[in-house]
Formats: sequence, C-alpha cells, structure tokens
Amino acid sequence: MRFYCPRCWRDFAEDETICPHCGLDIQEYWKSKDYVEKLIISLRHPEKETPLRAAWLLGQLKDKRAVSPLIELIQETEDVYLAREAVKALGEINTPESCRFLETLTRHRAKMVRDEVQRILSGRKGTCLTSKEKMEQP
Ligand SMILES: [Zn+2]
Repeated sequence: MRFYCPRCWRDFAEDETICPHCGLDIQEYWKSKDYVEKLIISLRHPEKETPLRAAWLLGQLKDKRAVSPLIELIQETEDVYLAREAVKALGEINTPESCRFLETLTRHRAKMVRDEVQRILSGRKGTCLTSKEKMEQP
C-alpha cells in the first residue's frame, strides 16, 4: 500500500505524519477538513479509483461546494471515465452554475462525455436558469 500527501500528491511507503517532500502536516490537514472537503481533495488523488469514487459520492451528497472543483476537474483531466463521473455528479448537484457548465460540454471531444451530458440535459429542458432569470427572458 502507498500513502499520499494530499497537497503535493507524492507517495511514500510509510504512513507519514509530515510529508517528507513538501512538509505538510498531513494528520492536521485531514483533521481540519470535513467529509465533503476530503472528497473534494480526493478528486486529485493519483490512484484512479479514488477520484472516481469521490466524484460519485459528491454527486450523492449534492453539496454545492463540489460544483467548482468538479468543473475544474472536467476541464483539466485527460481521463474520460473520470470526466464522465464528474459530469454525472454535476447533474446530480444541479445548480444553475453546474447546469450552465454542462451545456458547454455538448461539444466535448469525448463521445462518452457528450452522451452523458445529453442524457442529463434532455431530462430537464430549460431548468438551467434560476426562476428570476427565466422571468427576464424575452
Ligand atoms: Zn507533500
């Protein structure tokens, strides 16, 4: 088993209290974060399964704090499976921001991601706008 620093993401064989690479107090760092914050941090974990699981859980929890980190993740990741999972999570959380972002993904380079976006958006026509914005539409 490998252990990872949640800031620099370097790995080490022992469960270190202080990261030997960047000096982060790992124990204190995790202690200071709540569950959702820990999941958001785990979106950057280098072992593939962990960010997938974190994205899924964030979608289940529907915590709005996850919206921006999920958007960033989709913009940055090369992993289409992870991008799709993050898209699903954004669909679950469903804020105006997440919805608008999903609309920009209808031309994503990966078909898998486009299909997922289509599936989410086709289920809810026009609900991206807040009710106030809807009234302002011509
Ligand atoms: Zn570190």
